Amino acid sequence: MAASIALFTRDLRMRDNPALTAAHREGTEVVPLFVVDEAILSRTGAPNRLRFLRAALTELDTELRSRGGRLIVRHGRVVDEVERVAAEVGARTVHIAEDVSRYSRDRENALWERLSAGGRRLRTHAASITAVDPAEVKPDTGRGHYAVFTPYFRRWLETPMRAPLPAPDALAVPDIASDPIPDPADLCDQPGSPELRVGGEITGRELLAHWLSGPVERYADSKDLLAAEGTSGLSPYLHFGCLSAAEVVYRTDASTPGGHAFVRQVAWRDFHHQVLADRTEVAHADYRSESRTWLDDRTGLEAWRAGRTGYPVVDAAMRQLLAQGWMPGRARLIVASFLSKTLRVDWREGAAHFERWLVDADLANNRLNWQWAAGTGTDTRSSRVLNPLLQSERYDPDGDYVRRWLPELADLPGGEVHRPWRAGVPASVYPAPIVEFRGM
Ligand SMILES: Cc1cc2nc3c(=O)[nH]c(=O)nc-3n(C[C@H](O)[C@H](O)[C@H](O)COP(=O)(O)OP(=O)(O)OC[C@H]3O[C@@H](n4cnc5c(N)ncnc54)[C@H](O)[C@@H]3O)c2cc1C
Repeated sequence: MAASIALFTRDLRMRDNPALTAAHREGTEVVPLFVVDEAILSRTGAPNRLRFLRAALTELDTELRSRGGRLIVRHGRVVDEVERVAAEVGARTVHIAEDVSRYSRDRENALWERLSAGGRRLRTHAASITAVDPAEVKPDTGRGHYAVFTPYFRRWLETPMRAPLPAPDALAVPDIASDPIPDPADLCDQPGSPELRVGGEITGRELLAHWLSGPVERYADSKDLLAAEGTSGLSPYLHFGCLSAAEVVYRTDASTPGGHAFVRQVAWRDFHHQVLADRTEVAHADYRSESRTWLDDRTGLEAWRAGRTGYPVVDAAMRQLLAQGWMPGRARLIVASFLSKTLRVDWREGAAHFERWLVDADLANNRLNWQWAAGTGTDTRSSRVLNPLLQSERYDPDGDYVRRWLPELADLPGGEVHRPWRAGVPASVYPAPIVEFRGM
């Protein structure tokens, strides 16, 4: 009996997985294949994401085994490995989730060419990585993407979404060899975050169920409060596809203020994917064409990376990033504005540092949010600068977030912690501010 191949990329789940469902529906044996792509991993240098990837692959394998299957892992170049497995099992079709980056497009084209040359087919599945297919929400102007989020979101809300696809109930996997799931230590010798949380589809579904059982109702009020932990924490699960964005939206009651605010954020994720799908170069080049001059401020950049700028809210966020490989969205906005608008350091430096540490680092979301914050992207008020003092008064009024991440300031009470210079904290304990702001 011929088999089909479901090639997993960043759709590491059984449920609501169009590529896996299609392979299974062909009625043959299925090879659930993951290729440890040397081309990506050799330049990753991101131990946090490698640890998350290992956990996600392990949970995927557990899920597959509970239905009679197992994950087949191969190491090497994707096109070579897929061709090799296809030849081993006599596969006629390979199914893959459609993705948006230049690298994934090139991978699709290369797979298509190689498989067609051997008389095989590649089938790509849209709306697997995003909730909505980027091609389904096109502006009336005829452009390939919306340049502004609000009209995009209006159209996105009206776009039909599928009901989640169930996981295949039973899977027959041919008897072929598999490499072990990769050990992060073999792929990267950089230190990771000590408090990193990892998981896969099983953990992600538990988190989603808990989130939708109550906390989401408070999201509209608490999402920006830094100490509240009022956001879902689902971003790494969405990035690796342990959760389907379409299912997350489907299961959220968007008629409530919290649910509406939450799906709006998931729509931002789709929005950035649409922009990148249409203009793959903006992963590196400015989205807006007007030129900007950046400063080569190595000292400022180092202070920012280490969380030693002298602005407690900025430093707390940067230390959280190093400790957990994650930070809340409001904190990301504050530190990105500080680096790119206040220190005027090129946003690409900030994006690269995020990609070194963030467990959810994602080309579309990271690069386009950085551009948004730096004023080179889709923000319609591109000159706004976030004042960290005003931001901390508003989003960390009691100073709890800062005290959690800056133990050297833990004795300063309430909001006083945001201005340690007024309390006479010596520079040997905590640095003086590296730039000045109104309201010091
Ligand atoms: C400079 C900067 C860099 C960022 N880099 C990334 C990144 O690499 N990967 C990433 O997933 N998100 C990124 N974001 C977006 C956002 O900050 C995170 O998705 C969010 O903080 C993750 O936490 P959460 O899952 O608790 O989010 P929630 O607030 O619970 O939101 C739910 C989901 O919506 C999506 N989302 C929320 N906000 C945004 C946004 N502004 N843009 C796109 N999608 C969003 C995420 O998938 C998130 O998991 C970045 C934001 C900024 C300002």
